[in-house]
Amino acid sequence: MPPLPDSASAVLTVDLAALAGNWRLLAARSGSAECAAVVKSDAYGIGVTQAAPALAAAGCGTFFIATAEEGAELRGILGPVPNILAFNGPMEGTAADLLAHSIVPVLNDLGQIGVWTGAARSAGLRLAAALHVDTGMNRLGLPPEEVAVLGSEPERLDGIEVVLVMSHLACAEQPDNPKNEDQLLSFLRLKGALAAAPASLANSSGIFLGAQTHFEMVRPGAALYGVNPTPLKANPMAEVVHLQGKILQVRQIDSPQSVGYGAAFLADSPRRIATVALGYADGYFRSLGGRGAGMLGGTRVPLAGRVSMDLLTLDVTDAPPEQAKPGSWISLIGGGIPLDEVASAAGTIGYEILTALGPRYRRVYTGGHTA
Ligand SMILES: *Cc1c(COP(=O)(O)O)cnc(C)c1O
Repeated sequence: MPPLPDSASAVLTVDLAALAGNWRLLAARSGSAECAAVVKSDAYGIGVTQAAPALAAAGCGTFFIATAEEGAELRGILGPVPNILAFNGPMEGTAADLLAHSIVPVLNDLGQIGVWTGAARSAGLRLAAALHVDTGMNRLGLPPEEVAVLGSEPERLDGIEVVLVMSHLACAEQPDNPKNEDQLLSFLRLKGALAAAPASLANSSGIFLGAQTHFEMVRPGAALYGVNPTPLKANPMAEVVHLQGKILQVRQIDSPQSVGYGAAFLADSPRRIATVALGYADGYFRSLGGRGAGMLGGTRVPLAGRVSMDLLTLDVTDAPPEQAKPGSWISLIGGGIPLDEVASAAGTIGYEILTALGPRYRRVYTGGHTA
């Protein structure tokens, strides 16, 4: 790994080779199904400008984003060839942008179907779209009654070429949850009421539920970026994100001194405290105060006291003094502190840790095909 830039306070290293390797692993796990990539929300916070081309170079030909704006941005990044689909679907205000950038919308209800058939009529074109049928998530997607309407009134889809029928699993990371089987059966039933089209059900964790959930396309997001799709088992994914913060200052304290806001950390014996240059404004959750940990050299060092806006403090008493000094780097996500561990210590999921990664980090991309 190249040396960390001296001029930076906190460095977020994104390993694009690991990202590409994760996509290949998921593609291999998915048999003959096409493995798409979900790159919504700036590729889960790691940077879509770098991530999407790395995935395309690995062989990914279909990308999902959430909004029309994300679609336009991604089209600019990837050029005309890859398929780009937008989960949120067309609204009156966004249909023209979707069309202009060749984004295929996911149609989530009869209203969105009406918007897209209207766009097809005005453009005098047959327009591609995906249909999202709701199988129990009750968030987006055609409810069963609306699927029945489409079954009996297929002319509602005039002007639309349905390139994919999809649904989304609510509990895929819990393999024993009966909701998975319920949703699978509901999906088979609902897609059977529609004209035949390629189908897609599985997100990251869904891929690991087995071949019956793969259909013609799988749609992983989180696992690409290193989140464990099988939380009850060891993480099969490679680490993509490594966050390191620089030690600004080290001090010796003794009982009865305290550290930080609220005097939340009380020294019961002589302690060495290192102050590191990142905080909750950078997306390092305040809920990690007193719960999170860093890795300094090979030594695990716990957070001491609350996380501040731009700073956090760690108890480095157990680390060798030659390492616990200003200018040394402490790993806070990755590098011995697994992303999913950070998430559970923060009381959240890896997805939220990733999408909160802040704009102040110096971002270093390694392993890219152009790097
Ligand atoms: C975000 C999303 C995905 C990807 O889910 P992961 O759990 O990140 O793999 C797939 N499908 C839909 C509809 C989504 O919104």
